[in-house]
Amino acid sequence: MISIKSSKEIELMRKAGKIVALAHQQVSQAIRPGISTAELDAIAEKVIKNNGAIPSFKGKEGIKGSIFPATICASINNEVVHGIPDARVLREGDIISIDIGACMDGYHGDSAKTHPVEKISEEARILIEVTRQSFYEGIKYAKNNNRLSDISNAIQVFVETHGYSVVRDFVGHGIGKELQEEPQIPNFGKPGYGPRLASGMTLAIEPMVNIGDFRVRILPNNWTVVTADGSLSAHYEHTILITEEQPEILTKL
Ligand code: MG
Ligand code: MG
Repeated sequence: MISIKSSKEIELMRKAGKIVALAHQQVSQAIRPGISTAELDAIAEKVIKNNGAIPSFKGKEGIKGSIFPATICASINNEVVHGIPDARVLREGDIISIDIGACMDGYHGDSAKTHPVEKISEEARILIEVTRQSFYEGIKYAKNNNRLSDISNAIQVFVETHGYSVVRDFVGHGIGKELQEEPQIPNFGKPGYGPRLASGMTLAIEPMVNIGDFRVRILPNNWTVVTADGSLSAHYEHTILITEEQPEILTKL
């Protein structure tokens, strides 16, 4: 069942969302060649805790009993999602996807964005822009009474029109008391299927887009997802609230 949030719950999700957005702002200002992903993680954790929230990802259980050890996911270049922050430093020309979740008084916000590290290739720049825009194409359909897969289809069509592919193995999700709730929200599929959207639903829409093939694999650390063909990948995510009109983006300042 997809939960419908009360106005009180939505207010808490707005708070969580603002803290996620603030953490993104601070992290993005720190992105430069020479900084490590562990340093970026520390920045996000400080923002979240200073605002009275809790990192949503830290301690989450993954495959084979693995536990996610950090506040952010930091995924560089061919890494799609779930990169673990460590001592690795960014270099000019890299692209880095930062995913941040925060929990405020029991309610989560979840948002991701891919950044350039100084000067990047034209190909990488377009990938980032198409990924971001595919989210906005998708949420044009995110309103009361539409079907869930209307969003999925709009994202896929936009991405594939630009010659890229959408990741199949990882999808968006409902969000609220749990970081991941029903429904699963694929970034692909035919329109007109799935549950009907209703005002008060809160969803994390998150296209993951590869320059090459859509297939991915998971590294031996049980977390980091990489493109199977080694091509670059980008990610864009916001937590949104379904309304009668255009959705409200909760993870923004
Ligand atoms: Mg996320
Ligand atoms: Mg998410």
